[in-house]
Amino acid sequence: MQEEDQEELLLRRQILDYGLKAYDSGFVTETEGNLSIRVAENRFLVSPSHVPYEKRKPSDLVVIDSEGKVLAGERRPTSEWRMHLAVYKARQDVNAIVHAHPVYCSILAVIGEPLPPVLDEMLPYLGGVVEVSEFAPAGSAEIGQSVTKSLGNRAAVLISNHGNLCVGKNMSRAFQTAKYVEKYAKIYVSALSLGKVRLVPEGRQKQQGPIYEYLKNMDW
Ligand SMILES: [Zn+2]
Repeated sequence: MQEEDQEELLLRRQILDYGLKAYDSGFVTETEGNLSIRVAENRFLVSPSHVPYEKRKPSDLVVIDSEGKVLAGERRPTSEWRMHLAVYKARQDVNAIVHAHPVYCSILAVIGEPLPPVLDEMLPYLGGVVEVSEFAPAGSAEIGQSVTKSLGNRAAVLISNHGNLCVGKNMSRAFQTAKYVEKYAKIYVSALSLGKVRLVPEGRQKQQGPIYEYLKNMDW
């Protein structure tokens, strides 16, 4: 097997492994959600449409180009491929995306409430308030535009009446964001239901901005 094929096989396994983690973590149900990796400038590996996480094989993944044309694979690409490509186009620092429907992020996405900095260590990982995108139908080109706009330079976005989208330099970092953002959303939703929320003081928020820029470019 050529070196390039070996590398792509490793990336295929990452999508399968982290998909299972998302499934086991309860971030997705059945075939919900989707994951992708930027393999090269015009080559993206995306999860397939309607194949259960537990049954996926490396050959079920689909390779598409930056226009969404299928380059390799027997399956249909995830119906959200436009959203993934829109994010990759807008964010050259992003090489992996996890889109999921976790309960607490989805609650905020339903009530239209952004996730503010409520914990001291949030900003270095997320880069700011996690915004809620304007509503657009799943699978549409519009959802790609609204999600990209509300994501900005941050690591995550809440998708209106839908779920979330998390990005990273690699798949491990994108999934790390997915874990953090759902945990923070759970804490924020619980605090809201108790009727009292105190944000991280503004001075501290300003101190932490540059840490995000430093951390987001690190491999781990
Ligand atoms: Zn979705």
